[in-house]
Amino acid sequence: MSFFDKLKQGLKKTKESIFGQVNSIFKAFVKVDEEMLEELEEILIASDVGVNITEEIIDKLRDTIKERRISEPEEARLALMEIIEESIGENEGLNLNTSPAVILVIGVNGVGKTTSIAKIANCLKKEGKKVVLAAADTFRAAAIDQLEIWAGRADVPIVKHDEGSDPASVVFDACSYAKNHGCDVLIIDTAGRLHNKKNLMDELSKISRVIDRELPGADKETLLVLDAVTGQNAISQAKEFVKTSDITGIVLTKLDGTAKGGIIISVKKELGIPVKFIGVGEQMDDLQKFDKAEFTKALFEE
Ligand code: GDP
Ligand code: GDP
Ligand code: MG
Repeated sequence: MSFFDKLKQGLKKTKESIFGQVNSIFKAFVKVDEEMLEELEEILIASDVGVNITEEIIDKLRDTIKERRISEPEEARLALMEIIEESIGENEGLNLNTSPAVILVIGVNGVGKTTSIAKIANCLKKEGKKVVLAAADTFRAAAIDQLEIWAGRADVPIVKHDEGSDPASVVFDACSYAKNHGCDVLIIDTAGRLHNKKNLMDELSKISRVIDRELPGADKETLLVLDAVTGQNAISQAKEFVKTSDITGIVLTKLDGTAKGGIIISVKKELGIPVKFIGVGEQMDDLQKFDKAEFTKALFEE
């Protein structure tokens, strides 16, 4: 299956329940009017696009309809696609120009950190980069084992300590490993810390201090993983993380498991942080670099 087909398949639920309705509205109305805009607004809100962003989108659509003197629903549909694509924000890849560079992966339990790490490692490896993983979620032995299994699948080395050991010391050793073995990218898995638990946030800043000291000048991405199934709650969760961490990108997982994929449209607007990867399934190649044009096309294409 091609990348685009996988994306379309992964977005099926969102597409069918929500954007399918958007398309059928444009078909049902013979002319473009205020009633049509109201129906569109309802559907976008129901797809977890977010109330404010939906209003913004509908206002822009209304303006565009006036400016371009649009009277055909199909033209209005294309204008809406353009506006949505614009609202999603720019495509931004990972900024990993130093060698080694670091990716620190954070987020609450169960959102998909560990599996996304393996998938990102797999992507980077395919690009010819030498990758090492650090099992800094030392809270449970199962978390370390899980990362190890996925490291095996991606065929990349892993630095680990025993359960309960200091995550910062795992990171310290992983930094040494990356330096000594000429690795291009070190990816660090962390525990599902809760933003309101001060000790967990302290742990994260300790990890950051170790990275800064051991790999000074290294490019660093801090990716926050969010579960799309939780819809607008993911946005509130992210806002808490933003307060304490310098997040450079979002990984939005489980888009295949929800009809609320509209959340992606509010992420950049609400948080000011670009979505860098999207997860559309549980397999190794089910994580894709986010591309706003492909994403919009996958949602709207019949
Ligand atoms: P962590 O606790 O944040 O490290 O989360 P895990 O990486 O262990 O993932 C939790 C569960 O979510 C696992 O069963 C993953 O297979 C699943 N998962 C992660 N990403 C996706 C995705 O994009 N789609 C689907 N359907 N499941 C996913
Ligand atoms: P601080 O917590 O920011 O004051 O930094 P520390 O100097 O105490 O070190 C931070 C972490 O790095 C600690 O948790 C140590 O476990 C770890 N660390 C420091 N030096 C070493 C070392 O030589 N070997 C290993 N394995 N870990 C180290
Ligand atoms: Mg995990």
